[in-house]
Amino acid sequence: MEILRVENLTKTYGKGNTAVTALDNVSFSVNKGEFVAVIGPSGSGKSTLLHIIGGVDFPSSGKVFIDGTDIYNLNETQLAIFRRRQIGLIYQFYNLIPILNVEENITLPQLLDGGSVDKEHLNELISTLGLEGRLKHLPNQLSGGQQQRVSIGRALVNNPALVLADEPTGNLDSKNSEEIVNLLKLYNQMYNQTLILITHDEKIALQADRIISIEDGKISKDEVIRS
Ligand code: ADP
Ligand code: ADP
Repeated sequence: MEILRVENLTKTYGKGNTAVTALDNVSFSVNKGEFVAVIGPSGSGKSTLLHIIGGVDFPSSGKVFIDGTDIYNLNETQLAIFRRRQIGLIYQFYNLIPILNVEENITLPQLLDGGSVDKEHLNELISTLGLEGRLKHLPNQLSGGQQQRVSIGRALVNNPALVLADEPTGNLDSKNSEEIVNLLKLYNQMYNQTLILITHDEKIALQADRIISIEDGKISKDEVIRS
């Protein structure tokens, strides 16, 4: 079942002779439960692609369908709600809210939505992430690996259609990197969680089901390595 379809996505930053085409007519689709690694040189357009799929940067032209919804056809309020429910974003530098504790950072997407937190789901998530005993800590009281696990919790708390990770291990040592990738893979395999992950690390890319290579804003290669 198709969960994501990207159609003729183009993104140009700036105007005139300083304009940069970050994405040039990119199209592909992803099935539910796929783990897709996105690789390519620095500046090739990977982050731009992820941000547009995630509804946090607008395309210059083209469309993004997530679970059938044409996300750039939503108004701003609808898009904000859609993002909170259907998209989990994970960044290299965690992007946690410094004044909120671990539990508050994880449940933020649900609280913003006015929803109540399902305690059972939350406890299971926290235990899988190994964050018991850290719930009242602030981000700056945690190691990098722990902070990234909190950001995974925040990304997963609403059971989103898509988890998008931009170099999630880029700031971690190899032991913590492995742990983070194992957690993402666990959710991919146990819960059929669709995952799109940007990485520079070939070892991590080789754990995906499929590798999309981006060069100069275009898909240069799209290979299924595991099915
Ligand atoms: P990657 O993630 O592959 O390193 P990016 O998507 O970050 O690539 O960038 C693709 C191109 O778009 C680069 O040439 C970059 O300089 C440019 N770019 C990215 N974001 C912006 C921005 N906000 N304003 C202007 N140019 C940008
Ligand atoms: P609004 O009143 O929220 O602006 P519109 O129907 O005019 O509603 O626009 C729908 C949404 O699409 C808006 O949030 C708008 O910002 C967003 N949008 C911005 N740039 C693009 C683009 N390049 N392609 C599609 N949608 C875009």
